[in-house]
Amino acid sequence: MGRIHILSDTVANKIAAGEVVERPASVVKELLENSLDAGATEIRIEVESGGRRLIRVADNGCGMLRDDAMLAFERHATSKLRDVADLQAIATLGFRGEALPSIASVSRLLLETRSAGETTGTTVEIAGGKLLRCDESGLAAGTVVTVRDLFFNVPARRKFLRTEQTELAHVASLATHYSLAHPAKTFQLRSGTNELLAVTPVETLRDRVYQVFRAQVLEALIELEYRERELKLPAGPEDDQPVERVFGLRGFVSRPQVQKLNRNSIYLFVNGRLIRDRLLLHALSAAYHNLMPAGCYPFALLFLDLDCEEVDVNVHPSKTEVRFHHATFVHDFVRDTLRELLMERRPVSAAPQPGSPQPAADLPYSEFTQALENSALAEAGGFGFEPGGGEQLPVVTLRPPPAPPPRFHFGDGAIAVERSGSADPAPARLPVPETHGGFPGDDLPVAPQSMAGLGDLRPLGQIHDSFIIAAGRDGLWIIDQHVAHERILFEKVLAERMAGAVETQRLLIPMLVELSAAQHLQYARIAEELNATGFETEPFGNRTIAVKAAPAGVTPADVEKLVFEILEVADAELRGLSADDVRRGIAASIACRAAIKIHTRLDQQKMEWLLSRLASTRFPMSCPHGRPVALRYSTTDILKGFHRI
Ligand code: ADP
Ligand code: MG
Repeated sequence: MGRIHILSDTVANKIAAGEVVERPASVVKELLENSLDAGATEIRIEVESGGRRLIRVADNGCGMLRDDAMLAFERHATSKLRDVADLQAIATLGFRGEALPSIASVSRLLLETRSAGETTGTTVEIAGGKLLRCDESGLAAGTVVTVRDLFFNVPARRKFLRTEQTELAHVASLATHYSLAHPAKTFQLRSGTNELLAVTPVETLRDRVYQVFRAQVLEALIELEYRERELKLPAGPEDDQPVERVFGLRGFVSRPQVQKLNRNSIYLFVNGRLIRDRLLLHALSAAYHNLMPAGCYPFALLFLDLDCEEVDVNVHPSKTEVRFHHATFVHDFVRDTLRELLMERRPVSAAPQPGSPQPAADLPYSEFTQALENSALAEAGGFGFEPGGGEQLPVVTLRPPPAPPPRFHFGDGAIAVERSGSADPAPARLPVPETHGGFPGDDLPVAPQSMAGLGDLRPLGQIHDSFIIAAGRDGLWIIDQHVAHERILFEKVLAERMAGAVETQRLLIPMLVELSAAQHLQYARIAEELNATGFETEPFGNRTIAVKAAPAGVTPADVEKLVFEILEVADAELRGLSADDVRRGIAASIACRAAIKIHTRLDQQKMEWLLSRLASTRFPMSCPHGRPVALRYSTTDILKGFHRI
């Protein structure tokens, strides 16, 4: 009795229909998923010419029984699903029973398989959907599928394939990400004689991330250890007790300083399945809201685990989209969990280190993903993750490149920050003479990659009346006073808004502000919110409003500008965004207007006040618009700079 059977029409008709074979990477995806479903612990992928000439996936999984080997090539033939009820809770990656027949109809396919329980294996050869042979043969347990000359009989499809490198980049990206989802398995990817990926079993996701990327990349990431949230559902007709559903999330996200200009570095897995999903992308953006400039995205590798009943994967033929039954719950769980994580870790920006190249936030996270970003992802379609159209923009790194020297421009005067010393990246190290004082390595404070040390900072002075220089336990800090104050005020205004008590100041005489027709419309929509956020405004005749009070700290000269700014934010933000977003937008505008400006001298007391207030904010690392608040030269960097270590 075989394991595979043909689905009844009733079930088959309920399965998202459509073609899955678009390009070599989609073949690799289907074969890889089959190997994982077969319980393989070793998966070896081989491609030639980016997969156009050859794709071979070999596994040590359960293999197929003799009768099954032929049946597997019938449409809707699967061992993973039986009836309609099974569709409600799919626990395997595959379930459509269409991949093998689809692939075999557009290529020359050779299947070699042996089930562990049988003594001989089976070889099936099919070209363009026609069976050429089916033999018994001596084979190792497991399955090898070899796909040659993809689309040899469909020239129109072949024409749409991209360059070999592009196709290879897609294959490599896919293999890499599946390898991340299964740290305990061996994965290998070879292109001709080149080994692109070779990972052996490890215990943790962290170890796998380290294997696949580099230590340096790990440093730019924050690990999210498994966290969960429960959803209690009222008892259904068949249950006597309320049902409890557990949602779990783990993975890695980047520090807010790593700012990518598209979503190509976001990888989302739902129950081990690599998917793209707008809801989860939105939750991720919401977690970084006000920590990153608009239009920037983090790197993320996230694994969401939930009961199979909670998610429908039968949405799209390529199984890359899902539908959550409790979408809002999932969204908020992901957003809140990531927000909490960022709040706990408070990742700080490291200052540029003189004379050394700064790999820093360079998170293109493998050669091939880099290749992917450079070429493939500019193209639409396929297995790219580019809902936004995929710009080809480089990673924004906070740290400037080693040369030329960075220049800070603001106001009228441009200040050039010069570097002293030789540009030689590896100058000969002289032993540090005794008279310079020792600094034994053991005494080195551990430099935490976080803003935890913020509370102990001692301000030393300002540069250009704009940046506070401070000494801390773990190095030298430079704090942008305007941005720091902006963060403080932003959180203050938001908290006060929530408590219904925003600090306000009465204007001596009401200020009349004339609005354009569009602004007037916006005003009507957000007047209530405006008045709840420290303003007191009322209509004053035709398209004019009277402002009687404004949030504390905003100078009367700025009130009009602030009102205009808020109306603009509201205009931009109201399109599809929540009341919470509008609230945050307003708070950010107020904070920006009321914050201490640059070119403002601060006395010692004011600097101390600012730093201690900053230390008590929830997200001291970036301003509400996403700019960094502080840079730090760690003691280690300083010692390295002076060649003491
Ligand atoms: P699906 O994965 O949706 O069931 P496929 O066409 O991909 O459909 O595969 C058909 C069937 O062939 C699977 O249900 C499984 O029983 C069998 N099969 C495919 N690949 C493998 C493999 N690598 N190892 C063992 N069995 C496999
Ligand atoms: Mg399959």
